Amino acid sequence: MTRVKPYWQNYIDGAWVDGGAGRVEVINPGSGDVLAEHALADETDVDRAVHAAKRVHESGALPAMRPVERGRMVQAMGRYLLDHIDEVARILTLEQGKPLWEAQHEIAGAARYFEYYGNQAETLEGRSIPLGSGYFDFTHYEPYGVSAQIIPWNFPVEMTARSLSAGLATGNACVVKTPELTPLSSWVFADAAEAVGLPKGAVNVLCGWGHQAGAVLSAHKDVNQIVFTGSVKTGIAIATAAAQNVVPCVLELGGKSAAIVYDDVDLDAFEIDIRQGIFKNAGQVCSAMSRVLVHQNRHDDVVDRAVKIAKSLSVGPGSERVEAGLNMGPMVSMAQRDRAVAMVAEAERQGANIATGGRRMNIPGAFLEPTVLTDVSPEMTIAQEEVFGPVLSIIPFQDESQAIEIANGTEYGLVGGVFTRDLDRATRAAQRIRAGQIFVNQWFAGGVETPFGGYGKSGYGREKGREALLNYVQTKNVAISIK
Ligand code: NAD
Repeated sequence: MTRVKPYWQNYIDGAWVDGGAGRVEVINPGSGDVLAEHALADETDVDRAVHAAKRVHESGALPAMRPVERGRMVQAMGRYLLDHIDEVARILTLEQGKPLWEAQHEIAGAARYFEYYGNQAETLEGRSIPLGSGYFDFTHYEPYGVSAQIIPWNFPVEMTARSLSAGLATGNACVVKTPELTPLSSWVFADAAEAVGLPKGAVNVLCGWGHQAGAVLSAHKDVNQIVFTGSVKTGIAIATAAAQNVVPCVLELGGKSAAIVYDDVDLDAFEIDIRQGIFKNAGQVCSAMSRVLVHQNRHDDVVDRAVKIAKSLSVGPGSERVEAGLNMGPMVSMAQRDRAVAMVAEAERQGANIATGGRRMNIPGAFLEPTVLTDVSPEMTIAQEEVFGPVLSIIPFQDESQAIEIANGTEYGLVGGVFTRDLDRATRAAQRIRAGQIFVNQWFAGGVETPFGGYGKSGYGREKGREALLNYVQTKNVAISIK
């Protein structure tokens, strides 16, 4: 394995620069060692980035392009990611922890966003509204201007790609605030923007503390639209800042999503959903399958399968987990791991049973044993709050209405799932679960084409799919009086 560059800079107005707030050490969670340092932006850096983006917007360079041309540039950014997939995946694994094969999937997924939204650039059309013979009226979409994109550490490349691709495809200039735990892999977006010939300042990528650079960016008066993925607490702070400037924001916050598993479930297939749903990225997924609600007749079978999957996972450094399969990396940091351990201990105090896992692993790094909890009741903290770790809570139910009530019994509403061969039952559940996205018989079914976002405290607005493009544009109506 080649050496990681010891120091990484921010990218503002087409130049690599140091940060006014100094540097942050980026820790490899697979070993606990310092991996590299990254520049930290201060208020002045954020201001320069926003002004660069504003200048690009006001120049009209991006909106003036024929959309197909802009779309081709966006698509080319996706190809740039694929051309560098091995390099980016390696860095992503080292800074974030996920197995190398999951990192490769993440980069490929990121590239798909550029392909998808690049394709859509020329399809965003207004409409003509009849007002009678004295008028000709039409609408068209214009970019907001400066799009601020605040990124979490769980899928830093994919999350950046989904906002940046849609923002650029619609003609916005973008300022990306990368997460302080995993800022390194985002260098590729700056390189890609340069490689495809976007004007300087159209894409700015900077790392900084959330409470400092993040807060300054979200409150900046020249930012016209904000996209945020992360915790509810930060989402509220960002929405409050956006409200002060009367600019729209999209909030993609957490979840406590439930799979409802009926007695006719295909358990062999469901094993794959357990691996993917709660142990992918060590459970640090906003749409993780963190609760399984299982019909009481199959409770013990599902517990056995979940424990089997958890115990069969080979857990260790992501860089050594190259092949797709039953393996898992560390959590992103010691702090996140310790928070999850504390939540499991609290669940035990409240009466839950640890069927397997629940402890820190006795190796260097931020490792938590894959964990399955039983005897969980719906009102326990562990069943209400996001753990954001490899911790599955299994809760039995007796009938359909009880299952739906438990599924809907948290303040979140990001995704929900139903596992049954009975189409009527699946359809009823799909209607009644309060969540932005429902999976039937496959957790994470969908793709970049399908809209994604939350009900309740899981946020508002949609990322992914056609719907997301509309977050990046405002409608202008032109009414012409004909004499
Ligand atoms: P966070 O919400 O604090 O951080 C996410 C991003 O927001 C980071 O880039 C951070 O720098 C920035 N940020 C933080 N405070 C800010 C502020 N006041 N103004 C503007 N930006 C700010 O999340 P975290 O501390 O990294 O993780 C804490 C919890 O958040 C996790 O345990 C998990 O429950 C949740 N989380 C959810 C997701 C998700 O995909 N929904 C992703 C990451 C974290």
